[in-house]
Amino acid sequence: MKVKVFTIFPEIFPGFLQYSLTGRAQTEGIWSLETVNIRDYALDKHASVDDTPCGGGAGMIMRADVLGRAINAEYGGGRIIYMSPRGKPLTQSKVRELSKEDNLTIVCGRFEGIDERVLEAFSIEEISIGDYILTGGEQAALIMLDAVIRVLPGVLGNEASLKDESFEYLLLEHPQFTRPIEWEGRKVPDMLLSGHHQNIAAWQHDKALEITRERRPDLYQKYLDSKKV
Ligand code: SAH
Repeated sequence: MKVKVFTIFPEIFPGFLQYSLTGRAQTEGIWSLETVNIRDYALDKHASVDDTPCGGGAGMIMRADVLGRAINAEYGGGRIIYMSPRGKPLTQSKVRELSKEDNLTIVCGRFEGIDERVLEAFSIEEISIGDYILTGGEQAALIMLDAVIRVLPGVLGNEASLKDESFEYLLLEHPQFTRPIEWEGRKVPDMLLSGHHQNIAAWQHDKALEITRERRPDLYQKYLDSKKV
Protein backbone atom coordinates (compact mmCIF):
# COMPACT_ATOMS: atom_id res chain seq x y z
CA MET A 1 0.00 0.00 0.00
CA LYS A 2 1.33 3.41 -0.98
CA VAL A 3 0.46 6.15 1.50
CA LYS A 4 0.80 9.85 0.70
CA VAL A 5 0.20 12.41 3.44
CA PHE A 6 -0.37 16.15 2.92
CA THR A 7 0.68 18.03 6.06
CA ILE A 8 2.42 21.16 7.30
CA PHE A 9 4.32 18.96 9.80
CA PRO A 10 5.96 16.20 7.72
CA GLU A 11 8.43 15.60 10.57
CA ILE A 12 5.59 14.03 12.60
CA PHE A 13 5.72 11.05 10.20
CA PRO A 14 6.28 8.10 10.37
CA GLY A 15 6.23 8.75 14.14
CA PHE A 16 5.31 5.63 16.08
CA LEU A 17 4.62 3.77 12.83
CA GLN A 18 8.38 3.21 12.54
CA TYR A 19 8.30 0.83 15.53
CA SER A 20 7.17 -2.75 16.07
CA LEU A 21 4.84 -4.42 13.57
CA THR A 22 4.15 -1.34 11.44
CA GLY A 23 7.86 -0.46 11.28
CA ARG A 24 8.84 -3.96 10.21
CA ALA A 25 6.08 -3.94 7.59
CA GLN A 26 7.46 -0.69 6.19
CA THR A 27 10.99 -2.12 6.00
CA GLU A 28 9.59 -5.20 4.27
CA GLY A 29 7.84 -3.01 1.70
CA ILE A 30 4.28 -4.02 2.69
CA TRP A 31 3.51 -0.31 2.85
CA SER A 32 5.42 2.84 1.97
CA LEU A 33 5.07 6.45 3.00
CA GLU A 34 5.54 9.76 1.24
CA THR A 35 4.82 13.13 2.83
CA VAL A 36 4.07 16.37 1.01
CA ASN A 37 4.76 19.60 2.85
CA ILE A 38 1.80 21.81 2.02
CA ARG A 39 3.90 24.85 2.89
CA ASP A 40 6.09 24.18 -0.16
CA TYR A 41 3.10 25.29 -2.24
CA ALA A 42 2.56 28.61 -0.47
CA LEU A 43 2.32 31.64 -2.73
CA ASP A 44 3.82 34.49 -0.67
CA LYS A 45 7.25 35.15 0.77
CA HIS A 46 6.09 34.27 4.32
CA ALA A 47 4.97 30.84 3.06
CA SER A 48 1.55 31.31 4.66
CA VAL A 49 -0.85 28.40 4.52
CA ASP A 50 -3.75 29.87 6.54
CA ASP A 51 -5.95 32.93 6.74
CA THR A 52 -8.84 34.30 8.80
CA PRO A 53 -12.30 32.73 8.35
CA CYS A 54 -14.74 34.43 5.98
CA GLY A 55 -17.69 35.70 7.99
CA GLY A 56 -15.52 36.16 11.06
CA GLY A 57 -14.95 33.91 14.03
CA ALA A 58 -12.03 32.52 15.94
CA GLY A 59 -8.95 30.83 14.57
CA MET A 60 -7.46 30.38 11.12
CA ILE A 61 -8.45 28.25 8.12
CA MET A 62 -6.09 26.52 5.69
CA ARG A 63 -6.23 28.34 2.37
CA ALA A 64 -7.88 26.68 -0.66
CA ASP A 65 -5.32 28.00 -3.16
CA VAL A 66 -2.24 26.67 -1.32
CA LEU A 67 -3.69 23.26 -0.46
CA GLY A 68 -5.24 23.02 -3.94
CA ARG A 69 -1.88 23.66 -5.58
CA ALA A 70 -0.24 20.99 -3.43
CA ILE A 71 -2.90 18.40 -4.26
CA ASN A 72 -2.88 19.25 -7.99
CA ALA A 73 0.89 18.83 -8.13
CA GLU A 74 1.30 15.75 -5.94
CA TYR A 75 -1.88 13.67 -5.84
CA GLY A 76 -1.21 10.36 -7.53
CA GLY A 77 -4.75 8.90 -7.63
CA GLY A 78 -6.70 6.54 -5.37
CA ARG A 79 -8.79 7.27 -2.34
CA ILE A 80 -8.32 10.72 -0.83
CA ILE A 81 -9.28 11.29 2.79
CA TYR A 82 -9.41 14.36 5.03
CA MET A 83 -9.05 13.59 8.75
CA SER A 84 -11.93 15.53 10.27
CA PRO A 85 -14.16 15.47 13.34
CA ARG A 86 -17.10 15.88 10.93
CA GLY A 87 -16.20 12.68 9.05
CA LYS A 88 -17.64 9.17 9.09
CA PRO A 89 -16.44 7.41 12.25
CA LEU A 90 -13.42 5.14 11.84
CA THR A 91 -14.57 1.62 12.68
CA GLN A 92 -12.90 -1.75 12.23
CA SER A 93 -15.01 -2.40 9.13
CA LYS A 94 -13.85 0.95 7.69
CA VAL A 95 -10.27 -0.10 8.56
CA ARG A 96 -10.77 -3.37 6.63
CA GLU A 97 -12.24 -1.49 3.67
CA LEU A 98 -9.28 0.94 3.55
CA SER A 99 -6.79 -1.94 3.82
CA LYS A 100 -7.94 -3.15 0.37
CA GLU A 101 -6.70 0.05 -1.34
CA ASP A 102 -3.38 0.19 -3.21
CA ASN A 103 -3.08 3.95 -2.68
CA LEU A 104 -4.25 6.07 0.23
CA THR A 105 -3.93 9.83 0.23
CA ILE A 106 -4.51 11.63 3.50
CA VAL A 107 -4.93 15.37 4.09
CA CYS A 108 -4.16 16.60 7.62
CA GLY A 109 -5.79 19.80 8.81
CA ARG A 110 -4.44 22.25 11.37
CA PHE A 111 -5.88 25.40 12.96
CA GLU A 112 -9.70 25.38 12.54
CA GLY A 113 -9.55 23.13 9.49
CA ILE A 114 -9.47 23.56 5.71
CA ASP A 115 -11.46 25.61 3.19
CA GLU A 116 -14.61 23.65 2.24
CA ARG A 117 -14.07 24.20 -1.50
CA VAL A 118 -11.01 21.92 -1.48
CA LEU A 119 -13.17 19.05 -0.16
CA GLU A 120 -15.67 19.61 -2.99
CA ALA A 121 -13.13 20.15 -5.77
CA PHE A 122 -11.25 16.89 -5.14
CA SER A 123 -14.25 14.83 -3.88
CA ILE A 124 -12.45 14.24 -0.61
CA GLU A 125 -13.93 11.76 1.86
CA GLU A 126 -13.90 12.78 5.55
CA ILE A 127 -13.03 10.35 8.35
CA SER A 128 -13.15 11.01 12.10
CA ILE A 129 -11.32 8.99 14.74
CA GLY A 130 -13.84 9.93 17.45
CA ASP A 131 -16.06 12.55 18.99
CA TYR A 132 -13.37 14.85 20.36
CA ILE A 133 -11.24 17.60 18.82
CA LEU A 134 -7.50 17.19 18.24
CA THR A 135 -5.07 19.98 17.38
CA GLY A 136 -4.21 18.39 14.05
CA GLY A 137 -5.08 15.71 11.52
CA GLU A 138 -1.59 14.19 11.80
CA GLN A 139 -2.41 12.44 15.09
CA ALA A 140 -5.64 11.06 13.59
CA ALA A 141 -3.84 9.95 10.40
CA LEU A 142 -1.23 8.02 12.41
CA ILE A 143 -3.93 6.21 14.37
CA MET A 144 -5.93 5.36 11.25
CA LEU A 145 -2.78 4.15 9.45
CA ASP A 146 -1.74 2.04 12.45
CA ALA A 147 -5.08 0.21 12.38
CA VAL A 148 -5.04 -0.19 8.57
CA ILE A 149 -1.43 -1.42 8.33
CA ARG A 150 -2.00 -3.90 11.15
CA VAL A 151 -4.57 -5.81 9.04
CA LEU A 152 -2.53 -5.82 5.79
CA PRO A 153 -1.60 -9.38 4.78
CA GLY A 154 1.72 -10.45 6.32
CA VAL A 155 1.84 -7.83 9.07
CA LEU A 156 0.57 -9.90 12.00
CA GLY A 157 2.38 -13.21 12.41
CA ASN A 158 -0.74 -15.14 13.29
CA GLU A 159 -3.62 -14.13 11.01
CA ALA A 160 -6.02 -16.18 13.12
CA SER A 161 -5.52 -13.77 16.01
CA LEU A 162 -7.33 -11.15 13.93
CA LYS A 163 -10.44 -13.27 13.79
CA ASP A 164 -11.87 -13.17 17.29
CA GLU A 165 -10.59 -9.77 18.21
CA SER A 166 -12.85 -7.08 19.60
CA PHE A 167 -14.99 -5.43 16.91
CA GLU A 168 -14.36 -8.03 14.22
CA TYR A 169 -17.49 -9.84 15.39
CA LEU A 170 -19.20 -6.96 17.16
CA LEU A 171 -18.29 -8.38 20.56
CA LEU A 172 -15.57 -7.10 22.87
CA GLU A 173 -12.82 -9.56 23.63
CA HIS A 174 -12.99 -12.05 26.51
CA PRO A 175 -10.40 -11.62 29.32
CA GLN A 176 -6.91 -12.97 28.57
CA PHE A 177 -4.35 -14.53 30.91
CA THR A 178 -0.79 -15.84 30.69
CA ARG A 179 1.85 -17.18 33.09
CA PRO A 180 2.30 -17.34 36.02
CA ILE A 181 -0.78 -19.50 36.65
CA GLU A 182 -0.97 -18.02 40.15
CA TRP A 183 -0.01 -14.39 40.81
CA GLU A 184 -0.32 -12.69 44.21
CA GLY A 185 -3.07 -15.07 45.26
CA ARG A 186 -5.01 -14.72 41.99
CA LYS A 187 -5.39 -17.82 39.84
CA VAL A 188 -6.08 -18.10 36.13
CA PRO A 189 -9.68 -19.43 35.74
CA ASP A 190 -9.72 -23.26 35.98
CA MET A 191 -11.60 -23.58 32.70
CA LEU A 192 -8.63 -22.20 30.75
CA LEU A 193 -6.37 -24.88 32.24
CA SER A 194 -8.76 -27.74 31.46
CA GLY A 195 -7.34 -28.44 28.00
CA HIS A 196 -10.91 -28.90 26.69
CA HIS A 197 -10.91 -26.65 23.61
CA GLN A 198 -14.64 -26.68 22.96
CA ASN A 199 -15.55 -25.80 26.54
CA ILE A 200 -12.85 -23.11 26.59
CA ALA A 201 -14.23 -21.54 23.41
CA ALA A 202 -17.75 -21.59 24.90
CA TRP A 203 -16.49 -19.99 28.13
CA GLN A 204 -14.67 -17.27 26.20
CA HIS A 205 -17.74 -16.58 24.09
CA ASP A 206 -19.92 -16.24 27.22
CA LYS A 207 -17.43 -13.85 28.77
CA ALA A 208 -17.33 -11.80 25.58
CA LEU A 209 -21.14 -11.57 25.61
CA GLU A 210 -21.18 -10.56 29.28
CA ILE A 211 -18.52 -7.87 28.92
CA THR A 212 -20.12 -6.43 25.79
CA ARG A 213 -23.58 -6.34 27.40
CA GLU A 214 -22.21 -4.52 30.45
CA ARG A 215 -19.79 -2.08 28.82
CA ARG A 216 -21.21 -1.44 25.39
CA PRO A 217 -24.97 -1.99 25.24
CA ASP A 218 -24.92 -0.33 21.78
CA LEU A 219 -22.57 -2.99 20.38
CA TYR A 220 -24.44 -5.75 22.17
CA GLN A 221 -27.67 -4.69 20.49
CA LYS A 222 -25.91 -4.67 17.09
CA TYR A 223 -24.68 -8.16 17.80
CA LEU A 224 -28.19 -9.37 18.70
CA ASP A 225 -29.58 -7.76 15.55
CA SER A 226 -26.92 -9.44 13.43
CA LYS A 227 -28.05 -12.82 14.81
CA LYS A 228 -31.66 -12.20 13.75
CA VAL A 229 -30.95 -12.23 10.01
N1 SAH B 1 -12.82 23.59 13.77
C1 SAH B 1 -12.88 22.19 13.55
C2 SAH B 1 -11.78 21.45 14.36
C3 SAH B 1 -10.40 21.68 13.85
S1 SAH B 1 -9.23 20.70 14.69
C4 SAH B 1 -14.24 21.66 13.98
O1 SAH B 1 -14.82 22.19 14.92
O2 SAH B 1 -14.71 20.68 13.38
C5 SAH B 1 -7.85 20.79 13.62
C6 SAH B 1 -7.63 19.62 12.71
O3 SAH B 1 -7.46 18.43 13.46
C7 SAH B 1 -8.77 19.32 11.75
O4 SAH B 1 -8.62 20.05 10.57
C8 SAH B 1 -8.64 17.83 11.51
O5 SAH B 1 -7.77 17.56 10.42
C9 SAH B 1 -8.00 17.32 12.79
N2 SAH B 1 -8.92 16.64 13.70
C10 SAH B 1 -9.37 17.13 14.88
N3 SAH B 1 -10.17 16.27 15.51
C11 SAH B 1 -10.24 15.17 14.73
C12 SAH B 1 -10.92 13.92 14.84
N4 SAH B 1 -11.70 13.63 15.87
N5 SAH B 1 -10.76 13.01 13.84
C13 SAH B 1 -9.99 13.29 12.78
N6 SAH B 1 -9.32 14.46 12.62
C14 SAH B 1 -9.44 15.39 13.57
